[in-house]
Amino acid sequence: MRKYVIMGVQGSGKGTQAKQLAADFDLVHISVGDVYRWHVQYHTKLGAQVRRAMNAGELVDDSTTETVVRDRLALHDWNYGFILDGFPRNRRQAQFFLESYDVDAVIHLDLPDSEVRRRVLARRLCSNCGMDYNLIEHRPAREGRCDACGGELVTRADDTEEALAARLADYHAKTDPALDLFRGKELVISVDATAAKGAVQRAIREQLGLPQPVRKAQADRRR
Ligand code: AMP
Repeated sequence: MRKYVIMGVQGSGKGTQAKQLAADFDLVHISVGDVYRWHVQYHTKLGAQVRRAMNAGELVDDSTTETVVRDRLALHDWNYGFILDGFPRNRRQAQFFLESYDVDAVIHLDLPDSEVRRRVLARRLCSNCGMDYNLIEHRPAREGRCDACGGELVTRADDTEEALAARLADYHAKTDPALDLFRGKELVISVDATAAKGAVQRAIREQLGLPQPVRKAQADRRR
């Protein structure tokens, strides 16, 4: 049984790293943001309750979020363990978590604010079909135009320098203390998230003592 929490600022690659660990070790990937987005999309009662905070880029209140996490984990569909992504986001949530569950490790993806800025400000979105681009690693073939539908590429409304600075300040004010609480319990492994995706995944596994991903060439040879 493996129980992990993954933490990191927006753009640190949490979702990508969590999904790969979940796929390779049969862990259930629980993203609190995804749970909330599902409720908003399907117009549930909870969706109506959390929509305003989500649209404003604010955190949903702690007791609602704790109930969501408790109910999700109570499903006990995680026979081999889970990886919790996007929770806890503040000290109170971290305290709740430590009191209610035991955790094997907290994976901290460490990314300096300057790199977050570089990555986030390079994001573009097709105004027609919604496809995501990133001018650093996923450039469109034709500048400013979507590869799939030719639509105009635009910046998300909340991907401005100003909005990003506010989100980063909020993250440091709220989430750094949660991380400190876990650090005090010697649960945190920190990984340099400026590296490429594969290198970050390998560094996480090395620190957690998990087997490394099988490289494609090795996998082909074994067939
Ligand atoms: P994310 O995809 O993790 O950025 O989450 C999207 C949105 O869901 C956030 O902006 C919050 O409104 C809400 N949310 C996700 N996780 C939490 C959490 N741990 N506590 C409070 N709100 C959350």
